[in-house]
Amino acid sequence: MNLFKKISDWFSSASRPEDPGYWISVKCNRCREKIRARIDLRNDLSIEYGGAQDARPTFFTRKLLVGESGRCFQRIEVELTFDADKHLLSREIQGGTFDDEQPA
Ligand SMILES: [Zn+2]
Repeated sequence: MNLFKKISDWFSSASRPEDPGYWISVKCNRCREKIRARIDLRNDLSIEYGGAQDARPTFFTRKLLVGESGRCFQRIEVELTFDADKHLLSREIQGGTFDDEQPA
């Protein structure tokens, strides 16, 4: 393999479209800070098999978010469930609210 081939291989693998992941945006209940976090749909999810034999598996992840201001140590716990096609099925949050929903 010559050097040019090596370099072009490196470039083609580097320019491969990255998995954009799933972005969540939450607001801290205590300080109202907005926190954004990326869920890596390939590495962050654990698979959950349904009870029924023909049920498709779902994917589950739990994220613990802390603001970056350094002044607030509220921990925001987010739980997300995705279907087999990695579409969001349900979500839960403690310690904050999802930024795209109205505060209760
Ligand atoms: Zn906070």
